[in-house]
Amino acid sequence: MTSSPVLLVVAAALVDAAGRVLVQQRPEGRAMAGLWEFPGGKVEPGETPEAALVRELAEELGIAVAPGDCRPLTFASAGLDRAHLLLLLYTIDHWQGTPAAIEAAGMAWHRPAALRGLAMPPADVPLVEALVAQLGDD
Ligand code: C5P
Repeated sequence: MTSSPVLLVVAAALVDAAGRVLVQQRPEGRAMAGLWEFPGGKVEPGETPEAALVRELAEELGIAVAPGDCRPLTFASAGLDRAHLLLLLYTIDHWQGTPAAIEAAGMAWHRPAALRGLAMPPADVPLVEALVAQLGDD
């Protein structure tokens, strides 16, 4: 029996003053195109998860986040074609700059409960319930 490698991925729930959370839409030509996800990406060798998240948010959204403002909330996992994805979710409510969809097809802000209606990658789906519990659902 062969075991698939674990892919460590970090993602952020950016929370605005109204308690809404940012999601972005995966672009055409990428795996799972069109699905809505929490911004983030792979942790590179030698990086801490927080450093990876700070880097990914700068690349994907053009915002600056301090590592100390990345608060771990929960994690989820999912099987991919050739790997097992472990997805760590952080909440962030302080950043500098205005998020822009630099790499994504689009972005949107939703109350946590409204995220339940979106088509998301499998590992992102269970994270929504943790956000609803943490931030409220109205
Ligand atoms: O975006 P990137 O290619 O770095 O993501 C690495 C892997 O993590 C991809 O398989 C992507 O689909 C997955 N991912 C995810 N949910 C996220 C971010 C990334 O399932 N919120």
